[in-house]
Amino acid sequence: MPDHFETLAIHAGQDPEKTTGAVMTPIYQTSTYAQASVGQHLGYEYSRTGNPTRTALETCLAALEGSNFGLAFASGMAAVDAVLRLLEPGDHVLAGNDVYGGTFRLFDKEFSRYGLRFSYVDTSDLDQVKSGIKNNTRLVWLETPSNPLLNITDLKGIADILRAADRPPYLVVDNTFATPYLQQPIELGADMVVHSTTKYIGGHSDVIGGVVISAAEEIHNRLGFLQNAAGAVPGPMDCFLVLRGLKTLAVRMDRHASNAYSIADFLGDHPAVLEVRYPFHPSHPHFELAKSQMKNGGGMVSFTMKDGASAAHHVAEMTRLFTLAESLGGVESLIEIPAVMTHLSTAGSPLEIEPGLIRLSVGLEHVDDLLEDLENALEAYK
Ligand SMILES: *Cc1c(COP(=O)(O)O)cnc(C)c1O
Repeated sequence: MPDHFETLAIHAGQDPEKTTGAVMTPIYQTSTYAQASVGQHLGYEYSRTGNPTRTALETCLAALEGSNFGLAFASGMAAVDAVLRLLEPGDHVLAGNDVYGGTFRLFDKEFSRYGLRFSYVDTSDLDQVKSGIKNNTRLVWLETPSNPLLNITDLKGIADILRAADRPPYLVVDNTFATPYLQQPIELGADMVVHSTTKYIGGHSDVIGGVVISAAEEIHNRLGFLQNAAGAVPGPMDCFLVLRGLKTLAVRMDRHASNAYSIADFLGDHPAVLEVRYPFHPSHPHFELAKSQMKNGGGMVSFTMKDGASAAHHVAEMTRLFTLAESLGGVESLIEIPAVMTHLSTAGSPLEIEPGLIRLSVGLEHVDDLLEDLENALEAYK
């Protein structure tokens, strides 16, 4: 099969169904499968273990990340949970200091109770990563662009540092913000890529899902055992919805990015705005690195108000097209205050987010309408 991204998104794992010719992957809404004789089946026994709609999704997502090994989960957090279960009590995890709030909560409140140790560094600073690695570090977990600060980490640089260790830790990249269309961490040296498919991959804010894509078959097999043993699997309807969203990922990401760039440009010049953060905006501290590692800047923009937290809250409540809500990556534009919404669980920790930061998930509405909405909301602070 031709291996262009757009073509794989529509065809990988999605041949027409053999008995009827159905062009779209059917929703195999079944828990079990008939056996011709004892133990003789067609590759499926029970839908926790495997389901054909899920197989199509797993095959397609793996192909898009340049691998053959994908496993779908019931949510992004279920995917994170599965990866951490590869570790043993006493192991140390070095994580980015602005990882997704739910990831931090799972590490800090749950896995720390089972003997795993965590420390947090700014992974965009390679020296901090180098000095953060201990003898018992078995896994490095990071996001790039990070959430909500949109910092960029040099993936190849990190992979090189880890390879030089006596016992190289796994490099795991949560690629939810970039999507495989913008950035393919396995090619840059990651061992595993995790996504919340709830976000850009699903793309329509109508399904919760996650996936882990592994570079090596051995890791994939261990994760596959865990997927079946713990059973946090997505249902066939959810897999179908993610597959449907995936088909348009490339065109959506291009438009998300062009809209987001225009908005970052507007905010950067606005007198009420202290600082705007967008990876492909020349003002971003990691602009050159972002351009070398990503196809475009994605759809997320963060900014701070000169007048601080109360102004930020007011702006988030004033927009009409940008809906005040958690989550991101859908066709509709969203606005939120990370410190008291998505990242509330980091309050009081070293990962705490400044209260005046606003995060935008820039959608696919007409850019002029989005700009006008922000202009009106910012009017009072000129
Ligand atoms: C949303 C999100 C998650 C968690 O995914 P769910 O599908 O909500 O469980 C993990 N990482 C990032 C970067 C996210 O945005």
